[in-house]
Amino acid sequence: MLNLAISEALGEEIRALVSRHPDRLSMETIKTQNKGYSAEISVVTYSHSRREIDNHSKFRILLSFGQHGRELITSELALRLLSILSEEQQIPNMGPLSLNNTLEKLVIKVVPMENLNGRKLVEAGDLCERRNGRGVDLNRNWSVDWGKKEKDYDPYEENPGTAPFSEPETQMMRKLSTSFDPHVWINVHSGMEALFMPYDHRNTTPDGLVSHVMKSLLEDLNDLHCQGRCLVGSGGGSVGYLAHGTATDYMYEVAKVPMTFTFEIYGDTDASSKDCFKMFNPTDIMTFNRVLNDWCGAFFTIFNTAKHRLDGINSKASDDKLGKWESIDEYLEGYLMERSSRYGKRTEVLELGLQEIRTYFRLFLLSSVLLMFMFCSRISKSKYTTIRPIVSAVSL
Ligand SMILES: [Zn+2]
Repeated sequence: MLNLAISEALGEEIRALVSRHPDRLSMETIKTQNKGYSAEISVVTYSHSRREIDNHSKFRILLSFGQHGRELITSELALRLLSILSEEQQIPNMGPLSLNNTLEKLVIKVVPMENLNGRKLVEAGDLCERRNGRGVDLNRNWSVDWGKKEKDYDPYEENPGTAPFSEPETQMMRKLSTSFDPHVWINVHSGMEALFMPYDHRNTTPDGLVSHVMKSLLEDLNDLHCQGRCLVGSGGGSVGYLAHGTATDYMYEVAKVPMTFTFEIYGDTDASSKDCFKMFNPTDIMTFNRVLNDWCGAFFTIFNTAKHRLDGINSKASDDKLGKWESIDEYLEGYLMERSSRYGKRTEVLELGLQEIRTYFRLFLLSSVLLMFMFCSRISKSKYTTIRPIVSAVSL
């Protein structure tokens, strides 16, 4: 049987990898405690040039692994991804990294073991445990639709905690998402093969263009890296049960991360429900490597295309709005407000500038219209000798 590294060994491997690549990787460990229960989370940051880690103009991707203790394979995927990013390993059939141009424009934050305390319980022999060190499911502890219980609610599996964000692990992840403000969030799990998008607490996907773009990205990933086997769609609509208080729903609804996903990277549906190791983790080296390679490939497809796909929406939306004369004010206002909310503190400055920009824009439009009518009137004068076009132009 395949032995997966215990958390300490895995943590050590990650630390060593980071120290071998100080030009691209850095790592920080955050600790929090609540009523005598303490937890820590390590975050590895990949940036093509370390000096630019805080450059907020880069496209930002936040990936979390190991939110459920028993899903050991997910943290192995985090390590494999980091070794590919640092060019120590390669994805078969992908050739040497031809992605430097893409990676230069990205900052990727990886949380390899979100639920370290829960994982330690699994390593101590409780192979079916998915909750944290004090029995709370970290993927039910977020605020969107928190605490709602379905008929088949099982406290062993889904205890949401005493309140939203009652758990130190969830608090740290929320803080990380707020400070990093990612464009893409992926919560990596195992137990089945699936590519999920919001919502988990409803059986539908959100309306609108962004939702459409998320769906088409997932369909492409399914074709390219899952041989069409993966379930694709909303978490709530595809799994067969609704989940309340999940991280991905929070990232989408509250943190306003444009692209939010939950990936389920492996599952053995034939395994006995008592054999949790087998249900959630590959047990032979061939499958182990196949899973890691396939899903690293999926991540690189995202690194390569996510920004481009989102940019496509922005230009389409502005084309639509610019097509109408009367909506230019709305367009400018919407655009600037959207940007200002994304960059928090700059709101006031942008609001002050808004009036001026609108005035200049109106003057520019008015003068263009006047010039156009004056030009037309000169042409028409030769035929009809009338000055009406100028008069009507002024009344505009
Ligand atoms: Zn899970």
